[in-house]
Amino acid sequence: MHGLLIHPGELTKKWIDRMADAGVRVLGLHPEGGKQAIDSLNNLLRLLETEEYRALIDYAIDVRGLEIEYEFHAAGWLLSRELFDTHPEYFRMDENGERVREIDFCLSNTEAIDVIAENAAALAKRLYRSAPRYYFWLDDNSKPCGCELCRAISPSDAQLKVMNAIVTRLRRDDPSATLAYLAYQNFIVPPKTVKPADGIFLEFAPIKRDMNRPASEGAELDNVRELLAVFGTQNSKVLEYWYDNSLFSKWKKPPKQFKANNELIRGDLDFYCRLGFEVIASFACFLGDDYEELWGDVDIGAFGE
Ligand SMILES: [Zn+2]
Repeated sequence: MHGLLIHPGELTKKWIDRMADAGVRVLGLHPEGGKQAIDSLNNLLRLLETEEYRALIDYAIDVRGLEIEYEFHAAGWLLSRELFDTHPEYFRMDENGERVREIDFCLSNTEAIDVIAENAAALAKRLYRSAPRYYFWLDDNSKPCGCELCRAISPSDAQLKVMNAIVTRLRRDDPSATLAYLAYQNFIVPPKTVKPADGIFLEFAPIKRDMNRPASEGAELDNVRELLAVFGTQNSKVLEYWYDNSLFSKWKKPPKQFKANNELIRGDLDFYCRLGFEVIASFACFLGDDYEELWGDVDIGAFGE
């Protein structure tokens, strides 16, 4: 099963048709990450309240048979930074032993995790017609908490502990809900002590990969195999960067001209399938209307099934 992720502001009937025509099954909406992650998620939530935007999503699902997912960095949204004033212990300890408001939170504070899990359940209900697969990632460029409890386990184990709590809460409302463990940056090293709860699936995002060499020659392969052993292949997903023109444009508009490396993509698809991944997706941001006005049509042909 193939999926493509675009920025919410880039969703058009044309993009929906392009995906459906190419055999892509899942359309992922990905509000921009980085420092603006909270604002861009709030912008998406506002869009999802509008008739016009809902009509586009209805068209994608009801007319073109796509599934809709929402993938984003959620930590800053799920734990309001304002809570720092009353509960600094919910937040991350930096390298100097000081609690800080910015970036993620203390992944061992069970009260903070309860707040986050409740907010995640409320957020899931606002994701208009979402497939029951959720992606509430920690912050972009996540930093580990330096408290004694967090230091006692790896960042990957700490992330999994939080995701386990969220998915358990989500499944109280919808027993079919599943949630991604995002394996990228620090978290690409498999967790060792914490086991995935029911409903957790692996999402592997090789952001540091070399786009000029096949994935089969990548440096992370030992980790990938071990990750698949820990999480299993059921619902396992690769989130690739083949069509990520936001990455190639260094996240600055206007978008640069983009040409898909079709030979590399075909080889990588085959490789990921052989590893056992069930879902293969790629970012495809910065390829919206503004791109087409500048550079013309977008080719996702190699990605079709
Ligand atoms: Zn901590």
